[in-house]
Amino acid sequence: MMERAAALDAADPLAAYRDRFVPAPVVAYLDGNSLGRPLLATRDNLVRFVDQDWGDRLIRAWDEGWTETPTTLGDTIGRVALGAAPGQTVVGDSTTVMLYKVARAALDARPARTEIVLDTENFPTDRYVLEGIAAERGATLRWIDADPATGVTASQVAGVVGPETAIVLLSHVAYRSGYLADVPAITAVAHDAGALVIWDLCHSVGVVPMEVDAWGVDIAVGCTYKYLNGGPGAPAFAYVTTALQETARQPIQGWMGSADPFAMGPRYEPAPGIRQFVSGTPPVLGMLPMRDMLNLIDEAGLDAIRAKSVALTEFVLELADELLVPLGVRVSTPRDAALRGGHVTLDHPAFREIVPLLWKRGVLPDFRPPHGMRVGLSPLSTSFTEVAEGLQIVGDELGQQQ
Ligand SMILES: *Cc1c(COP(=O)(O)O)cnc(C)c1O
Repeated sequence: MMERAAALDAADPLAAYRDRFVPAPVVAYLDGNSLGRPLLATRDNLVRFVDQDWGDRLIRAWDEGWTETPTTLGDTIGRVALGAAPGQTVVGDSTTVMLYKVARAALDARPARTEIVLDTENFPTDRYVLEGIAAERGATLRWIDADPATGVTASQVAGVVGPETAIVLLSHVAYRSGYLADVPAITAVAHDAGALVIWDLCHSVGVVPMEVDAWGVDIAVGCTYKYLNGGPGAPAFAYVTTALQETARQPIQGWMGSADPFAMGPRYEPAPGIRQFVSGTPPVLGMLPMRDMLNLIDEAGLDAIRAKSVALTEFVLELADELLVPLGVRVSTPRDAALRGGHVTLDHPAFREIVPLLWKRGVLPDFRPPHGMRVGLSPLSTSFTEVAEGLQIVGDELGQQQ
């Protein structure tokens, strides 16, 4: 098994990218889907930023590019990771706040409709934010009871949307099972019913290639600290298709998203285009690290990254079948690579106790209730050897429990 891992590493065209990351003193980092590792370039660029951009240029730097960072960096995310033409992606806030802003804007863009469609397996913040919006606006939540093993399908969505549906909110890759939704098919189903779709891309951006423009996506949001390695609490992004920008209005009307912030005028007038989705002062410092990962993704190519991601998840399934299934582990991620994102979830009743023991041994997956262990693989920083070493230790810990 270790020889097989070594052979896969030797044949991996992306293997050398691992050296671009700050070395991690662990056996296996299996949580790249939750917090990407820092790049060596980021360390240098943060120091340079403090010394030069901030230290030397001081307040002048706002006029020398900082003010525009939400949209210039947004365009880079759009080009490198989303398949989005410029002028439709903006960076700021947390995913939670950004989702609130775009979901309110989308609901208000369908004023005659009263229903919001979402699914029971979506990430908590997505469900909670929409629950709050429904209460605030008197809308009704229509739940799709998603099977964690198969995810939300186009036919399930077709079964719940109708003339009352204002918006449909779904995740591209399910945070728990890793199920990869069919964005173009589901988007078309929602559009046939006259609804708008919001896609949460947190678990797919930077690891699953996408074409949001070509797929007709209305709105999307996503994290930048997962596969975009933006660092803890790095700001989120939102995509709003050009066609909606004229009419959509977001509710947190701040000066930085107004037409002329420094006029300090008496009333809010939204900035034209995607800029109106900015609320307050852009988190310039928090936007730095993700640039380095976006550069690396651009260099390696998202298709090559996806190919390695599929090979890594296949390898996890192979190791799980050999080492862990005999110990009572169940694979909760689709076995068809076309239906799978960048991580694999394994279930066992002992994982709640075992994951902290693994962390002590330098093997870092994460635990998701009720008894899921997520194995997250970030293709540019994860090797096949560390996956094999890590899963061997998982097997060792599970064996000791029996
Ligand atoms: C990680 C994640 C979030 C996180 O939201 P924050 O506001 O950044 O904490 C939201 N949605 C999904 C699907 C996620 O995976």
